[in-house]
Amino acid sequence: MWLHDFLNLFFPNLCQACGNPLVKQENVICINCRFKLPATNFHYFEDNPISRIFWGRVNLTSATSFLFFNKGGIVQRLIHNFKYKGNKDIGYYFGELIAKDLVKSPLFSDINVVVPVPLHIKKVKTRGFNQSEVISVGISRALNITTNTTALIRSEFTETQTKKARYTRWENVRGKFCLNEPNKLEGMHILLVDDVLTTGATLEACAEVLLEIQNVKVSLVTLAYAQA
Ligand SMILES: [Zn+2]
Repeated sequence: MWLHDFLNLFFPNLCQACGNPLVKQENVICINCRFKLPATNFHYFEDNPISRIFWGRVNLTSATSFLFFNKGGIVQRLIHNFKYKGNKDIGYYFGELIAKDLVKSPLFSDINVVVPVPLHIKKVKTRGFNQSEVISVGISRALNITTNTTALIRSEFTETQTKKARYTRWENVRGKFCLNEPNKLEGMHILLVDDVLTTGATLEACAEVLLEIQNVKVSLVTLAYAQA
């Protein structure tokens, strides 16, 4: 592991999924890993395992995850290199791949703006970036629309309040998010973005807050889906 890290430092042109050297035309991942990516293709279906997670919880227009997250698999390695080793290129690259795939589906064709799930300020400080924001920027560049990082924010105050009590996971995230200048998103079809979907509690809380904005539709996409 140490040797791999050491080589990465001096030879950054390695596949971020398998560690093999990249050839000239390759970017971030090698062609072999590119074809091995476990794509869900859920974005073509209104009724899919991701949208079902949110049924009866929050009124999403469409929902999808790009890849299946399997423990020990290439997606886990990619996300590890992205989040914990700080290789932001992975996030931009996959944001672009997600966008190129989403535009093929009529369910996502009228997205106007991308909104990342805000990361806790302490985590932004330790990690140096918000991974959902990096993916969002990759998506919005490819779609030629904007990423809005100011409308949906974390309300830190409520968070410390709820910490004191023993709440369920949902109640823990409830009230953690609030809006700032929501008029900027009025009438838009918002694409909410996160890195990994597990229970969906955080995404649900974010979507619920965004749906308070006048005349909006909210859809969501995550880079990966970790099945419970
Ligand atoms: Zn590879």
